[in-house]
Amino acid sequence: MRTRSLTAAVRLSLLASALVVSSVCAAPAPAPDPPAFDGGRAFEHLRAIVGIGPRTPGSPAAAETRRYIEAQMAAIGVPVAAQAFEAKTPIGPVKMVNLRATVAGASADRIVIGGHYDTKLFKTFRFVGANDAGSSTAFLIEMARVLKARRNPLTIELVFFDGEEAFVDWYLGDDHTYGSRHYVQEASRIGDLARIKAMILVDMIGDRDLLIKRESNSTAWLTDIIWSSAKALGFGAHFAPDAISVEDDHIAFLQAGVPAVNLIDMDFPAWHTPDDTLDKVSARSMEVVGRVLAAALPKIEARLLGRAR
Ligand SMILES: [Zn+2]
Repeated sequence: MRTRSLTAAVRLSLLASALVVSSVCAAPAPAPDPPAFDGGRAFEHLRAIVGIGPRTPGSPAAAETRRYIEAQMAAIGVPVAAQAFEAKTPIGPVKMVNLRATVAGASADRIVIGGHYDTKLFKTFRFVGANDAGSSTAFLIEMARVLKARRNPLTIELVFFDGEEAFVDWYLGDDHTYGSRHYVQEASRIGDLARIKAMILVDMIGDRDLLIKRESNSTAWLTDIIWSSAKALGFGAHFAPDAISVEDDHIAFLQAGVPAVNLIDMDFPAWHTPDDTLDKVSARSMEVVGRVLAAALPKIEARLLGRAR
């Protein structure tokens, strides 16, 4: 009795397997998985960008950095548009350029993933900014390669912001975040703001000793999705539950009503010193953030497509 019933169960299970196999065979071939974020590739971009030297706004090195980004995007097949403007700064007018790389999606509504590419002006020492902001620049280039190979329900715009850093003093008027403030002002002026459904900022994500804390100005649900994705991937140790407050390129978006999150590792001893060099950053840290963001993106998209803002 026992044996007979087991045999019947085995037959049933074989039949079920056959049905599963035949239905799989009848289904169209699934889309190939997009390539995973490769920290090694990001690090090679970082090395090239740091090799350009200090990349202060309006400098020939800033222009060279843009040419590097544009060449990489052309190789990936992602179109780039320059958004040039003149910023009023405490040291006078400075010509700045944001670069906007667009990965088309099914909807023209978009998610902005941004980071700054300028380095802070220091007159007393040579500042190459490997982490600040070589890491965000390199990260966005590698992210373009990953996203280009993906089926995106929403358009994703990768924005390389100019002029994040203060020229004299962050707290002197608006001496900071020139690029992101201009970007949001322009989007508002041309009636484009409502198309931006969320903004994700990366800043200083290359620290070898990566520890990103929740940023308290950031939108809670966006932060929650990213932190839970990190935990699910086994990267929870790099995404701490405690919070810090940071003013950065996401603030202009938040003020305009766009949900936004800042992924930043402020615990970086070489911050704004001559020591922010290649040896302080790692391919792995960028890869951790890239893989977490890639895992979080479908959940963010589902949330955005599931309900109006
Ligand atoms: Zn900085």
